[in-house]
Amino acid sequence: MNRWVHPACIDCFSALAPGREPVVLRVTDPRNGARLRVRRTCCFCSRDTDAGIFARRDPATVGCHGALGYHANGGFGTGRRG
Ligand SMILES: [Zn+2]
Ligand SMILES: [Zn+2]
Repeated sequence: MNRWVHPACIDCFSALAPGREPVVLRVTDPRNGARLRVRRTCCFCSRDTDAGIFARRDPATVGCHGALGYHANGGFGTGRRG
């Protein structure tokens, strides 16, 4: 069981998980609730994306090996840490 999440663009996510709902990390401005677009590098195609989508994958099977972009190992979206 791994809890690594990798930033992914929409194209890569739909290729990785056809028909699945993406996990979207919504970042909002606390002052007015406006959606903030955070640019990250897709771990699967290395392009910049502001989709806010993350795909769970073992970093050993992804080109980034957990070193590129945003990753959370444990506790993502649950408030818990393993
Ligand atoms: Zn990655
Ligand atoms: Zn991509």
